[in-house]
Amino acid sequence: MIEKLQSEEDCRLFLEDVRWQGKPICPHCGSINEKHYRLTTNGVFKGLYKCKDCRERFTVTVGTIFESSHIGLKKWFLAIYIFVSHKKGISSVQLSKDINVTQKTAWFMLSRIRHNFYNKIKVKFDNRTQADETYVGGKKRKGDKRKKTQGRSTLIKVPVMGLLSDGKVYTEIIPKASGWVLKTIINRLVKQGSVIVTDGWKGYSGLSKDFIHKVVDHSHGQYVKDGFHTNSIEGFWSQLKRGILGIYHLVSPKHLHAYCDEFAYRYNTRDMSDGERFELFLSGCTDRLKYKELIWNWI
Ligand SMILES: [Zn+2]
Repeated sequence: MIEKLQSEEDCRLFLEDVRWQGKPICPHCGSINEKHYRLTTNGVFKGLYKCKDCRERFTVTVGTIFESSHIGLKKWFLAIYIFVSHKKGISSVQLSKDINVTQKTAWFMLSRIRHNFYNKIKVKFDNRTQADETYVGGKKRKGDKRKKTQGRSTLIKVPVMGLLSDGKVYTEIIPKASGWVLKTIINRLVKQGSVIVTDGWKGYSGLSKDFIHKVVDHSHGQYVKDGFHTNSIEGFWSQLKRGILGIYHLVSPKHLHAYCDEFAYRYNTRDMSDGERFELFLSGCTDRLKYKELIWNWI
């Protein structure tokens, strides 16, 4: 598919097709109309529309991660394709070589792409749900009592909660791994009366009030009990940790949620083809993280 997208125009048409399916949508007033005016420059139409209703001008990239980027769509598409196809993620050094941009540009592109992974797949927790928590990030230095994070140099593990049902995973960064926090999330997302499988940690006690709670007690060497287990969510944790360690080396706690979303997206789309995953991404790439915002967040 990526071979078919040879020119900037091919890419624009492809994006229009994925986002609009033949009916351009005005980003200013929301009007959907095949007959929005097509404006030409020197007789050539280059994707600039004028809304039939509000009379504002727009192109297909308005409101997407591609808006007012000096990088062409072709390079963006290639970057996204490479990113969503790699099982373990890709570093900015590697991407800069692959698509011939500077590492700084590649880093910025990856950050923008990564901030569009959340919520791509809606997960329904109404069946059998595995719940687990873990710590992700660097090792805490011995004798390091600092609690506040101070950018990249701080090596602190961050607690993450995960739910997995029907082969789909959902993660959430939590302030601390306390029973109260975990149960609040479970109550918010999982349908009452569903089966919840957890390990034997006492934080999960009390769940049986609203759910059918199955406990697999790892401390007694138990990994499967009556066919119930937490192996899938634990498998996801090890993928996430290996991925972060292997490719990204160190992730600042502030950005960990984006990396969790990235790996959850890969996990949840593992049965799709690379092309399907690419199209799914393009259909909703509307969270445009600005460079200044990104740098600011990083510090
Ligand atoms: Zn309009």
